[in-house]
Amino acid sequence: MTDHGFQALVIRDVDGKRKVGFEALTRDDLPDNDVLVEISHSSLNYKDGLAIAGSIPIARRLPMVGGIDLAGTVVESKVPQWRPGDQVLVNGWGLSETEWGGYSRFQSIKAGHLTRLPKGFSAAEAMAIGTAGYTAALCAIALEDWGHITPGEGEVLVTGAAGGVGTVAISLLAKRGYKVVASTGRASQHEFLQSLGASGFISRQELNEAGRPLQAERWSGAVDAVGSHTLANVLAQTKYGGAVAACGLAQGMDLPVTVMPFILRSVALLGVDSVMAPQEKRARAWDYLDKHLDRATLHALTTTAKLSEVPKLAEAILKGETRGRYVIEIA
Ligand code: NDP
Repeated sequence: MTDHGFQALVIRDVDGKRKVGFEALTRDDLPDNDVLVEISHSSLNYKDGLAIAGSIPIARRLPMVGGIDLAGTVVESKVPQWRPGDQVLVNGWGLSETEWGGYSRFQSIKAGHLTRLPKGFSAAEAMAIGTAGYTAALCAIALEDWGHITPGEGEVLVTGAAGGVGTVAISLLAKRGYKVVASTGRASQHEFLQSLGASGFISRQELNEAGRPLQAERWSGAVDAVGSHTLANVLAQTKYGGAVAACGLAQGMDLPVTVMPFILRSVALLGVDSVMAPQEKRARAWDYLDKHLDRATLHALTTTAKLSEVPKLAEAILKGETRGRYVIEIA
């Protein structure tokens, strides 16, 4: 490690206000955890946008290094299960909230938070997937585990379609043989979403206002990254016995729904959390991604950016102006 310091994106409390800026850190500044990782890539997620440019205090301890994802190589380890040279990644586990995160050349990580980089992916590809993509896999698995949703039978809806979760969810579900309808607020992205596997579209506006508690049955299943009225309408439109995997709140954290879809149509609302998911669940999601995510499609939905661009991108993702996934090059 260089003695001259390395760049990190740090959130600090300055006179009672949150300030975000690049700082030169040294190894002595890092927390005293089990494993020192040299980070090659991180990524940009909606939560990174909130932490860097949002009004919600994602970082619960300050100072905090941002970045909820990281991938890189173990440099030093105090524990036998990790050795220098091991290729690793971290998704979530409180990074950028309670644990220092991936927007830094080096980071000191708790041993239990590390996942071995899956053989089928480079570090850059793992971060192209990142938390949003791995959450999309958790959602797809939740729908498949529900057991009543079969490829080729009916339509599966993905909301927030042009975002990180949405684009990976479309790619995965289409590859699995589902007929995927994409809900987007951006008609300009239809062609792109079609190239990922979407076979139909519904506008964001059709779903994001208050609707009736039960509506015409349309969806066999759905992945929802949006919450609020959108999720309420999706539940009201889900077919008898169908399920909705809910992971996001891009429209809002409220859920103005009635019990009707649940008690009259046996619809299931499947909650999906990626941050504290146990390692076995993560391993299953990465295995699912390895098997079902077409690499050319992954590259097509990914933009590569530099660490210096994160503050600008954080603002853009909150405004809904970004598309697909963003890899952040650190090294
Ligand atoms: P992105 O910003 O990449 O995608 C969100 C998409 O939602 C946008 O691209 C846009 O799609 C749509 N959208 C944005 N604003 C609104 C709005 N006001 N009303 C309706 N739709 C809107 O974010 P991510 O994909 O990274 O994350 C999506 C959501 O999932 C976030 O809320 C995030 O916090 C959550 N999440 C949760 C996780 C978990 O563990 N539960 C893990 C990862 C993410 P379009 O332009 O196509 O309409």
